[in-house]
Amino acid sequence: MTRANRSWPGRSPGSSPGTLHLVATPIGNLEDVSARVVRLLGEADVIAAEDTRQTRKLLSHLGLHTPLVSYHQHSGPSRAAELLRRLEDGEEVALVSDAGTPAISDPGWSLVSLAVERGIRVSPVPGPSALILALCGSGLPTSSFIFEGFLPRRPGPRRRRLSELSSSGVTLVFYESPHRILDALEDVAETLGDPPVAVARELTKVHEEFLRGKASEVLGELRARAARDGRPLGEFTVVVANPGGRRGRGAAGGKAPRGDEAPAAQGHGRSTKS
Ligand code: SAM
Repeated sequence: MTRANRSWPGRSPGSSPGTLHLVATPIGNLEDVSARVVRLLGEADVIAAEDTRQTRKLLSHLGLHTPLVSYHQHSGPSRAAELLRRLEDGEEVALVSDAGTPAISDPGWSLVSLAVERGIRVSPVPGPSALILALCGSGLPTSSFIFEGFLPRRPGPRRRRLSELSSSGVTLVFYESPHRILDALEDVAETLGDPPVAVARELTKVHEEFLRGKASEVLGELRARAARDGRPLGEFTVVVANPGGRRGRGAAGGKAPRGDEAPAAQGHGRSTKS
């Protein structure tokens, strides 16, 4: 009998296919794991992980020994086919990303899409996502927003995309790598007329902070740090007040940027990531 023969909430008795559980995992702080996440990771027949080394650290922290297979951007169609076959055979598969919510700016979406095409049940299990944490802590309007994932890497396409997005009139949220954060903020300042931004750095980790201010001010602060440290450090999510939209009451436009370390994040919890 596979683990899948157990009864899962929402599963109709006698239904044979398994469920693809999209299990959100911590983006830094290992305390951000719900009881349901622990149970599902423990009960799954297999965990399909973007980075098995990263997920093994989490499983070891949770005392779990569920088998792992990799599912990442270089996994060929045979890995997807294998997972779909297992689901069709009645196994329960948990999909996890490197960190955060699977299928948000990571390769998991393709497996979800294939599972949906085949009529396999997909069940998202809530947990952290950098985009939502950055947005809700930004102090910028949240009622409508565009999540852009990663902006184009090259300056020309990046500026063109920012110009297109500016006409939406709503808050913009995008992920950015430490290598490109300075260039991206420069383009935001130049293309969007130096709007208020909130740059969320190292969310849920010991050095969590929000840098708020005009794009040029936050850029200046990050440049100064880069000059000191060699390069910008950490993981970044950028929230931009759209010049065509209403500005949030808490937007720090005009004030000097500052990092406000969250006391709750200081020294609590263990992290899977540096
Ligand atoms: N699926 C993930 C999620 O739901 O948060 C996002 C995956 S995406 C490949 C990774 C990007 O998310 C990073 O490059 C960074 O821009 C952002 N990110 C991840 N962890 C973060 C953190 N702790 N603080 C700020 N941004 C973070």
